[in-house]
Amino acid sequence: MSETMLITGCSTGLGQALAVAAAREGYKVYATMRGLAKRDGLATRAAEAGVAIEIRRLDVRDSASIAAVGEEIIAIDGRIDVLVNNAGVGFVRSTEQASEAEIAAVIDVNQMGVIRCTKAVLPHMRRQRSGRVLTISSVGGLVGQPFNEIYCATKFALEGYMEALACYVGPVFNIHFTILEPGGIQSEFANSTLAQLAATGGILDDEYRPVLEQYMGTVQGREWANSPYQSAEDVAAVVLSCARSETPPVRMRTSPWGEELCRLKTDVDPDGRKMQAMVGEMFLGQG
Ligand code: NAP
Repeated sequence: MSETMLITGCSTGLGQALAVAAAREGYKVYATMRGLAKRDGLATRAAEAGVAIEIRRLDVRDSASIAAVGEEIIAIDGRIDVLVNNAGVGFVRSTEQASEAEIAAVIDVNQMGVIRCTKAVLPHMRRQRSGRVLTISSVGGLVGQPFNEIYCATKFALEGYMEALACYVGPVFNIHFTILEPGGIQSEFANSTLAQLAATGGILDDEYRPVLEQYMGTVQGREWANSPYQSAEDVAAVVLSCARSETPPVRMRTSPWGEELCRLKTDVDPDGRKMQAMVGEMFLGQG
């Protein structure tokens, strides 16, 4: 029987590419999105690739929608083998410029969304004594970047969340936890982030303005050879390699650009395994 894979945020970008690639590799894919009005893009790609994909509504802010999909998979397939926490939103504003409601909304999707979905699948994976949780973080989960402190705070939070689960739920219940850290993905992400900025007053005329313009000019003016951007398909291939690995890493960058940016944080323990061994020894008397 095929392994089941539940993916969040499949209307566009990495989620959509991963759903098709995983179905091609033989997974039974439950590709979810917060609004089914956007299902046609994925449905068309699945038809072109000649694969079947189950498309369902799941909003990571809505626990009931997460539970409904989880229960359906268990009712039909009896198991959830892989969860890919992919849904996420960008946010470009300084802390002073952001409203509390905007900040809470980013945390709700990027951080709470991952915790909600992981909480929903863990009882099944624990019962199965197997499973994988792959969470799409970012290089912004390791390196703070200008005007991205709210986004980075959510991705740093995911790094700690997954690292902690990996150190005890992993070895005790045979559930693998992996954090993926892309540098940049060709997707709707930048457009959606800039649309959110525009819809909430655009670039404000304050003391941050010249710094924000400098930041945007630097990011947008990068030569392609120096660009962090990978295709969604390339990142999906890295995610799938972790899903298939017998010994998946705790964390992984997805490109040389990302590796270079994070080098000062990751050189000593690139895949997080040394830290896991040390935490196991210090807190659980393992080793
Ligand atoms: P994308 O094309 O914008 O895709 C993001 C997906 O998340 C969309 O399907 C979006 O749905 C979905 N989403 C947003 N809010 C949601 C909610 N409440 N419930 C369920 N789904 C929701 O961007 P992407 O690049 O593929 O992003 C995928 C992941 O990669 C994200 O976690 C992002 O943080 C991470 N990442 C991206 C980059 C980059 O440069 N693009 C770099 C590093 C990491 P809608 O279409 O309905 O909005």
